[in-house]
Order: sequence, then structure tokens, then C-alpha cells
Amino acid sequence: NGNVIDGKAVAAKIREETAAKVAELKAKYNRVPGLAVVIVGQRKDSQTYVRMKRKACEEVGIASFGADLPDTATQEEVLSVVRGFNANPDVHGILVQLPLPKHIDEQAVLGAISVEKDVDGFHPLNIGRLAMKGREPLFAPCTPVGCMELLERCGIPIKGKRAVVVGRSNIVGMPAALLLNKRDATVTICHSATKDMESIVRQADIIIAAAGQAQLVRGSWVKPGAAIIDVGTNPVDDKTKSSGYRLVGDAHFEECKEVAGAITPVPGGVGPMTIAILLKNTLESGERFISGKLQSSAAPSKRGQKGA
Ligand code: NAD
Repeated sequence: NGNVIDGKAVAAKIREETAAKVAELKAKYNRVPGLAVVIVGQRKDSQTYVRMKRKACEEVGIASFGADLPDTATQEEVLSVVRGFNANPDVHGILVQLPLPKHIDEQAVLGAISVEKDVDGFHPLNIGRLAMKGREPLFAPCTPVGCMELLERCGIPIKGKRAVVVGRSNIVGMPAALLLNKRDATVTICHSATKDMESIVRQADIIIAAAGQAQLVRGSWVKPGAAIIDVGTNPVDDKTKSSGYRLVGDAHFEECKEVAGAITPVPGGVGPMTIAILLKNTLESGERFISGKLQSSAAPSKRGQKGA
């Protein structure tokens, strides 16, 4: 199992580092970072994620704020909850659990979150900065950042390497491609209209699989030694499980493991990283606010960088 990346262990390390820095802030300023998680409606999966996020905050010493709105909440009600958290000085991160009920405009809600508190990194201004040369977002989306952390902490080189991202969603594929681009990988994005994906994937030193298609990437598509970060979580029937299903990734794990230099398992790969990065983003935001480093609406920008 030498080439299997242990996402749980890396995530645990990040949580430990976060807890230690939260304790430092508390010792120095007697204040802790705060995260507000907003949920609208009764979706079982969303409720589970929200519970996990709140519990994870508690474990590292981040204060947790919540708003649980009914399915019938109006857009104005959701916006007013967001504005309340924007104005609350004890809240440094705001997360709205997606998806929202159909009658609510998701982009309007995400865009209403203060850019400085956008720990999910979905605000158009943060995404825009991610796409711009010489600019840095205050936050980038947690799952793709988790993919990058796995690569970096496993010592997998990125600069100058060929990366192929399968999928281009706003929350995973596209920001993953933008992050790889920022680290100077040569990035190709594949999606549902891509032709001959196999031969494109075969050129990759780094494969990020985020299509939501069970076992799409086969072993024969993988260049020997390539790193595979598998974001997919696809339920497939499994009568041996009490739940009746198990999760598989977007890569065919058994086949790919034979050829890849490194590969994340599903579960236990990218999954645990998402919440760990959310905590890390919230800590960084708390640090900026509490230490007074934040100048309103001024994002850090990288100056003096040349080249395209
Ligand atoms: P999505 O459905 O929003 O986007 C899927 C993308 O894949 C689209 O851009 C589409 O063009 C592309 N695609 C679909 N079928 C394809 C095919 N056959 N070939 C090439 N491209 C194809 O999904 P998403 O929200 O980006 O999530 C992707 C997967 O990642 C899902 O399985 C989801 O459950 C999982 N996920 C995991 C985490 C985590 O923390 N582990 C977080 C978010 C999403």
C-alpha cells in the first residue's frame, strides 16, 4: 500500500495544527475564530454535513454559530441571516450549506457573504482572484484546496507538470484547475463534451478526477507513476453492507493503484480533507480579524510578478 495516500492522516495533522494555532490566538488575544453554518431545509445529507462541520469546529476550539431555516424560508430571510453574520464581530467565517431549495437564488446568497468571511471560497470575487495573475483570493474552495494539500504534503511536484482535471464544476473541477494553474502546472480540463478523454488523461502527471462517475478513469488511461487525486464519491449497490451500498471513486481503484505513483482511496482520501481545510480557512480568517491585519476589502496581492 506504499502508493496509497492516507487522507485521514493528513487531515488529522491539519486539524492538530489548526487546534494548536487556535489555542495560541486564545492565549494571546483571549478570542477564538468563529464559524457560522447556515442550513436551509431538511435534506438528510446536508444535515449530516452540517453536524460534522459543527462538531469539527468544537474539536479544534473554533466557536460555532448556526442558523437552521425551514424549507419555506424566503430568499430575503436567508439574505438577512447572512447579513447578520457579516456584521457579527465574533463570526469570521460564513458557510451556506448547498444545495439551497429551488426557490432561492444560490448565487445571490453566495454573493451576499462578506468576501472576508467567505471560508468556502465560492464568492465570485474570490473565484475571480483565483483566476487572475498576480492576485490571490482570501479563500479558495475547500475540496480543491484539500487536493492541493494532499499533493504538497506527499511531496508530489506540481510546477511544470502536466495536470488533467476531469470535471469543471464551480465547487470542485474549475477551482482545482485554477489552483493547479497558480502553482504552474500545465492544466487541461476535461468535461462531459470532451472527446477521446483517455488519450488526454494518459499525458497527465497529476490526475484530479471530479466527474461524479463511478470508476470512470481506468488503469489503462494512467501514465505509469502518475498521481491520482480522486474526488468522486459514488454510491454503488453492495449487499454485504448493512446500508446496502458502498462508495467508489471516479477512478477504478484496483486497476489504477497498479500503475499510479500515488493514489487517494475512496473513502479516506479527499473526503476527510474538505472539513480540515474549512477549519484551516476559518482559523486564517480569525487570525486576520483578531490580530487586526485585515484592511477592509483589501485582499493580499502578489506584486512584482512577471510573465504569463
Ligand atoms: P458536478 O456534477 O457538479 O460536476 C461534474 C463535472 O464532471 C461536470 O463538469 C461534467 O461536465 C463532468 N463530467 C460528468 N460526466 C463526465 C464524463 N463522463 N466525462 C468527463 N467529464 C464528465 O459534480 P461535483 O459537485 O463537481 O462533484 C464531483 C464528484 O465529487 C461527485 O462524485 C461528488 O460527490 C464528489 N465530491 C466530493 C467531495 C469531497 O469532499 N470528497 C466534495 C465535493 C464533491
